[in-house]
Amino acid sequence: MKSVLIVDDSRTSRRFLRDILERAGYNVVGEAINGQEGFDQYVKLVPDIVTMDITMPGVDGIESLKLIRKNNPNAKVVMITAAGQKEKMMEAVKFGAIEFITKPFMEESVLSALRRC
Ligand SMILES: [Mg+2]
Repeated sequence: MKSVLIVDDSRTSRRFLRDILERAGYNVVGEAINGQEGFDQYVKLVPDIVTMDITMPGVDGIESLKLIRKNNPNAKVVMITAAGQKEKMMEAVKFGAIEFITKPFMEESVLSALRRC
């Protein structure tokens, strides 16, 4: 069973992702509400996969991705994006993001992105 850390400032998004992932048999080991907390939780929990929202107050998803990949160059980080974030997506690819999930979440696209990790 793969462990997952969910990083998202939206409580609704976190709950939605957790439900989808747990139903599919993933072990959601933690949640964080911003990029700094996401990085701290990553170091503490060392999950197999991180789902990382891009837009968050304070340390955003791109900065958190950078911190995580600096800590572990093999970290698997899936970015959560919204419409109109093409530049951010390209930046995330540059810093090692391996998959993308677009909001609003659709169960099948969430699960296929996680499966590809
Ligand atoms: Mg957000």
